[in-house]
Amino acid sequence: MSGKTTTQSEAPLLEVKNLETAFKIDGQYHNAVDNVSFNVKPRQIVGIVGESGCGKSVMSLSIMKLLPKENGKIRSGEIKFAGTNLENMTDKQINKIRGKDMAMIFQEPMTALNPVFSIGYQIEEVLHNHMTISKKEARLKSIALLKSVGISRPEKIVEEYPHQLSGGMRQRVMIAIAIACQPKLLIADEPTTALDVTVQAQILELLKEIQSVNDMAIIMITHDLGVVAEICDEVIVMYAGRVVEKTDVDTLFHDPKHPYTELLMGAIPKLDEEKEELATIKGIVPSLKNMPSTGCRFAARCPKAMPECTQITPQLGETDEGHEVACLLYETSRPKEGMNVS
Ligand code: SF4
Repeated sequence: MSGKTTTQSEAPLLEVKNLETAFKIDGQYHNAVDNVSFNVKPRQIVGIVGESGCGKSVMSLSIMKLLPKENGKIRSGEIKFAGTNLENMTDKQINKIRGKDMAMIFQEPMTALNPVFSIGYQIEEVLHNHMTISKKEARLKSIALLKSVGISRPEKIVEEYPHQLSGGMRQRVMIAIAIACQPKLLIADEPTTALDVTVQAQILELLKEIQSVNDMAIIMITHDLGVVAEICDEVIVMYAGRVVEKTDVDTLFHDPKHPYTELLMGAIPKLDEEKEELATIKGIVPSLKNMPSTGCRFAARCPKAMPECTQITPQLGETDEGHEVACLLYETSRPKEGMNVS
């Protein structure tokens, strides 16, 4: 966990309320994020976990306003950053916030870094975009940033190009670019997935350190609950575009309630167990076009499914204080009398 605490009364830095993000497929919009709400407080590390196709990355693109304009759109809901509704902002206003107050790192830095520009140029470009700074100052700052993310010989690395660096170093460079303007919120989308285990651990350690030094909040998007255990304070488990469980990290690991979360737990690699293959969850996440319109979206894969699970849509309800679950095994998930069940 991050080790930084937030106070109960502190206003959220990010508020996502009833968000619905849809993609157009064959002329029709389908929700990839379906009625999702959550808050991130200053300095908090919130994990969003689920397999690919669960809507995690679409959520981050919605927050950053980076959805593909030709086929993606926010259908309804609200995203507020530091009290300001992002929906009403122009592209110009958003560009001012993006990279400065909110930044993002991706799984594969090679696709995010520009191969034709030097590392120094790419860091300095962000600095010049968001602050008044001389060329010389920007170069000194980019060297200092590289040093702060654990890159040795930063004076030499600023002159080099992305292909000259290892995967771990490229991810460190991406982090340096992301934190260049000391953002209040960093969205990290599977930042360690492409790296080997030792480098993964180093990058997580680095993120924790940076979060603490910079007083920054992080949204950690991952398919790996092991990463969540390492770094997060709060966890949101998503399945097929919906939140199925939401609580603090200790509660999730000691008392997982949703069958999907339990299966994800079984997929965490254990260092002391020699396993040929990781436990995987049978079946696949339904595609956007084949999303069941009624009932629990996990029903086809759920080992605890009951006949009613395909008829009644579970609601996210609080089973214990601060622990929300959407599963019909819990009374709190059953629709109240008179409520539409689909
Ligand atoms: Fe499984 Fe039913 Fe709960 Fe869905 S609602 S997770 S199918 S038990």
